[in-house]
Amino acid sequence: MQESDPHSEATTPVIVPRPEHTISRANISENALKVLYRLRQERFNAHLVGGGVRDLLLGREPKDFDVATDATPEQVRQVFRNCRLIGRRFRLAHVHFGRDIIEVATFRGSGADQDVEDRRLESGMIVRDNSYGSIAEDALRRDFTINALYYDIADFSLIDYADGLTDLRDGQIRLIGDPQQRYREDPVRMLRAVRFACKLGFNIDLATEQPLFELGHLLEDVPAARLFDELIKLFQSGYALQAFEKLRHYGLFAQLFPATETSLAREDQGFPITFVSRGLANTDQRIRESKPITPAFLFAILLWEPVRQRCAQLESEGVSVNEAMMIASAEVCAAQQPLITLPKRFALPMREIWALQARLEQRDGKRPYRLSTHPRFRAAYDFLLLRAEAGETDPELADWWTRFQATNSEGRATMTSSGKPGGRSRRRRKPAKSTSDIKG
Ligand code: ATP
Ligand code: MG
Repeated sequence: MQESDPHSEATTPVIVPRPEHTISRANISENALKVLYRLRQERFNAHLVGGGVRDLLLGREPKDFDVATDATPEQVRQVFRNCRLIGRRFRLAHVHFGRDIIEVATFRGSGADQDVEDRRLESGMIVRDNSYGSIAEDALRRDFTINALYYDIADFSLIDYADGLTDLRDGQIRLIGDPQQRYREDPVRMLRAVRFACKLGFNIDLATEQPLFELGHLLEDVPAARLFDELIKLFQSGYALQAFEKLRHYGLFAQLFPATETSLAREDQGFPITFVSRGLANTDQRIRESKPITPAFLFAILLWEPVRQRCAQLESEGVSVNEAMMIASAEVCAAQQPLITLPKRFALPMREIWALQARLEQRDGKRPYRLSTHPRFRAAYDFLLLRAEAGETDPELADWWTRFQATNSEGRATMTSSGKPGGRSRRRRKPAKSTSDIKG
């Protein structure tokens, strides 16, 4: 292995030849290999880069494979018929193989000697970045050292310009370059630092970590749709609870979900509010069990506390339960939407999950039958289980619905007859805590 010289410019990479590293082509997807070989055939440089290389070196299964090349996007398009160019901010080639997409990015340069229009910064933030450069420049434009490792298809060597191999060995998340500047260029890197720390179980290096406490406000300038995409990656990958705790630790959660943060600072009759943590732990559990998850349910969890507290306040002012829920959920959504875009196809079911909570308390006559055929019933029931677990509603109610679903039509008839919930008698039931027990 070539030694890196700390005094040289970072343009001298460490090169690990094929026999001295563990990346095997057997673990690289067939489609990624096709793209790499084909580019090579056309005399372009072609490398695997980013998460694919990082995860293979860690012995993990990569989520996807990204390719970096010296071919321009237009040249890539000429090589592959099944190719589309995407992105304005970063122009990229997508090579399609059925549902599988291999992302091919052209080496990015520092942009110093190029048309200013190709690399534009607005108050320190990169809004357009299409200047091309060498692999050395490309490496230093990537976010973390462990994400800047290249696997060269020409000789199967590993190329490391940023000391990523050392950090990979030591379990460190470290930004390349000056952390303040790199976060200002793209504040989403703050969320990526948290994501990789959770996903890989790595430490965030001190200099990379410190600005996280101070720069959260930069997230205000990130397009709300991009934040949604990033938060889905953060909260739907099996470490949602840990991500939530880290985001709160750095003060980033308050930036993203200000109403939730405020609501969590209050106590529920002297107890800390555990609903969000429980809900996120449950999301992680579902992923471990390969059960379906949806952003509608995730955001229903993340935004429930402010909705519930506002609802309680309205109810205490004499507003009816249903009306209070409508007003509270509309208010919370309206305040949240400019920060993080929750697409309508998720926002509507989310609000239904909330609205059905009150209907789940009505167990007499035909109502439970009608409710159980509602398209959002199952999600609303799962949500009720979480609320019961968090001590927010009587577990007996959740139990009742569990039994109602499990029993046959005779059992159901007994459970719903004469307006009384079946099983235990009504008298023995502790009064169910409605949302109005909490003073917002
Ligand atoms: P995973 O795919 O497991 O989420 P990844 O590291 O591959 O992780 P991608 O979002 O697929 O993440 O990005 C691929 C690579 O592109 C990264 O490894 C990194 O080198 C570079 N990259 C992505 N986002 C940024 C960014 N915001 N700033 C700088 N470089 C980035
Ligand atoms: Mg990737």
